[in-house]
Amino acid sequence: PDLLTGKTAIITGAASPRGLGKATAKLFAEHGARVAILDLDAAQAEAAAADLPGEGHIGLACDVTVKPACAAAFAAVLEAFGQVDILVNNAGITQPLKFMEIAPENYEAVLDVNLRGTLYMSQAALPHMRGRKQGSIVNMSSVSAQRGGGIFGGPHYSAAKAGVLGLTKALAREAAPDNVRANAICPGFIATDITAGKLTDQMKAAVLDGIPMGRAGEASDVAGCALFLASDLAAYVTGSEVDVNGGSLIH
Ligand code: NAD
Repeated sequence: PDLLTGKTAIITGAASPRGLGKATAKLFAEHGARVAILDLDAAQAEAAAADLPGEGHIGLACDVTVKPACAAAFAAVLEAFGQVDILVNNAGITQPLKFMEIAPENYEAVLDVNLRGTLYMSQAALPHMRGRKQGSIVNMSSVSAQRGGGIFGGPHYSAAKAGVLGLTKALAREAAPDNVRANAICPGFIATDITAGKLTDQMKAAVLDGIPMGRAGEASDVAGCALFLASDLAAYVTGSEVDVNGGSLIH
């Protein structure tokens, strides 16, 4: 229970109480990390940080689609923690639209949070991580990127999450000589508020039918994978996409 002792982590989009980011923050804190939770609302981010086990966690407002906001939040975390070892780009939104329904503002909203935000936060962290010759960046993609949707998100969501995979792999190549690793997680269907109340029973049954393990994932299932990738257990793992999907896509 001490895989991250002495380490610090930034996790974006981690204020959502039942979300993947919050579960990841909790597991990281249980393993000894000091965690900075970044989310849209300062009070919610602070409350989520206060809810984590252990001392010294912080919550900050940061809209990851705004480059100076990412730089400012990173600087504030660095000021508070003195170092940043881990960045989890988890903030994301989705919309259940069909191909022809995607309006320019839908494209912008979904691409901006999922893809542009991942770029901007990583740009904020990279010089520091390179300077210390140490860092692990974990990006939240989706099975939707690999199989072209099929759960909830529309084609623009699939495109954004596929973009995250490309960005992750390119970053992994560029940053590897400085011992900064970048990996992506591709969760399948995980019960969180991103789909809460938006899936009909029929949709849920169809999704479960396609999962060999016969159950939806738990947020903790994704957190466990993020812990591995963030920790030194994964010291030689970079540029990978790790499936956490109960077998719903085996390839
Ligand atoms: P969630 O809706 O519970 O949490 C997302 C969080 O992101 C929220 O706290 C929200 O406030 C925050 N956020 C939104 N826009 C932001 C912005 N511009 N700046 C900063 N924060 C912002 O969702 P979740 O299910 O926990 O999803 C977490 C990540 O995992 C997302 O990237 C999502 O696309 C991905 N994912 C989820 C599933 C699933 O089944 N739940 C599957 C695959 C991938």
